[in-house]
Amino acid sequence: QEDNAQLPIDLRDCAQEAIDLIKLQQKGDITFENTVDSGLTAMGDTQRMIQVLVNLLSNARDASPDGGHIVVNGDLRKNWVHLSVTDEGTGISPELRDQIFEPFFTTKEPGEGTGLGLAMVYSIVEEHGGLLEIISPVDEVLQKGTKFVIKLPKPLETA
Ligand code: ADP
Ligand code: MG
Repeated sequence: QEDNAQLPIDLRDCAQEAIDLIKLQQKGDITFENTVDSGLTAMGDTQRMIQVLVNLLSNARDASPDGGHIVVNGDLRKNWVHLSVTDEGTGISPELRDQIFEPFFTTKEPGEGTGLGLAMVYSIVEEHGGLLEIISPVDEVLQKGTKFVIKLPKPLETA
C-alpha cells in the first residue's frame, strides 16, 4: 500500500487481471469484455485498483441474467480518467442507491454477500482522489443494467 501508492497504474492491465480473477470462479454463462484504452493510466496503487474492479465485477455478475455481458471500459476525458463497469442486470432502484455503500448492507442471501464490497470500493476510490457515479438503469426502455463509473484524476503530463 505504501510502496506503490503513487505509481502509474496501467488500467487496461488492471481490468484484464480483474476479469481473469473473476473468471476463475465460473458462474453461469456470462461474458466479459475489456475495452479500456491501451496506455490509459492513473496514479495510485495497482493492487487496490484491481480490488476495486474485482468487487464491481463480482457484483455485476451476481446481478446478471444468464447470457449477460459485462464490459469494463476506460478512456481519458478532459480532466478525468473514466473507468466503468457495465452490466445487463437487475439495476439498482433509487431507494437502494442510498444504502449500497454502507458497510454490511446486502440484498444477498446470508453467506452469499458480506455487504463490504462497495464500502471498500468507495474508500479506495476516495484514497485515489476519485469520484463514483452510478447510472441505473442503463437501458431506460427495458429498465435494466447498471453502470458504475470511477472518475480518477488525470495524471500529470510526464513528457
Ligand atoms: P455484497 O455484494 O456482499 O452484497 P456490496 O457492497 O458489494 O455487497 O453490494 C451491496 C449491494 O448493492 C448488493 O447486495 C446489491 O443489492 C447492490 N448492487 C451492487 N452492485 C450491483 C449491480 N451491479 N447491480 C445490481 N445491484 C447491485
Ligand atoms: Mg459485492
